[in-house]
Amino acid sequence: MPPGEDARVLFDAPTIARRVEGLADEIVAAMGERLVAVGLLKGAFVFLADLIRALDRAGARPGVEFLRLSSYGLGTVSAGQVHLIGDVPTDIAGRRILLVDDIVDTGRSIAYAATLLRQRDITDLKTCTLLDKPSRREVDLVPDFVGFEVPDVFVAGYGIDYAERYRHLPGIVAVEGAK
Ligand code: 5GP
Ligand code: MG
Repeated sequence: MPPGEDARVLFDAPTIARRVEGLADEIVAAMGERLVAVGLLKGAFVFLADLIRALDRAGARPGVEFLRLSSYGLGTVSAGQVHLIGDVPTDIAGRRILLVDDIVDTGRSIAYAATLLRQRDITDLKTCTLLDKPSRREVDLVPDFVGFEVPDVFVAGYGIDYAERYRHLPGIVAVEGAK
């Protein structure tokens, strides 16, 4: 860890695992067994990997796709504009979509992805995020399924990076002194 930087655990691995099981139950109750989980890369890859297996235990048979949006780069402040880097390759017309992100902050990324996918003649789209920072919201978006609400702190771990570091951590930490 660079000097001046400190990582405090917010959610350890067992706490996340329990919440992911609960989320899967909520999702299957609301959406049924046939859905396509679309993860936003790169941040959502660890969460999505755990979520699809929890969905299996909850009785669902989810398809899996990914969208890649432009990222923060190396800092902690969003560039404010979202760009599509990689699209869903398959035809998703007629499917029920669960859009999955790691964290919803301003809401711009997930709102952008939801708008893009809704143009594809899908049956239904719901949004799911492991972490929600509602105090930072800039667009009118309330995720349908939320793992944990977090205050306005910079988080990392469990797939979420700070300047491409920390993705490998099994839990989620608040990075203090992050620039
Ligand atoms: P939004 O478009 O909602 O402002 O931001 C969404 C994306 O910004 C998230 O999917 C995540 O990749 C990144 N992000 C937002 N807050 C944080 C944070 O506290 N830590 C990290 N590492 N990324 C964040
Ligand atoms: Mg993300």
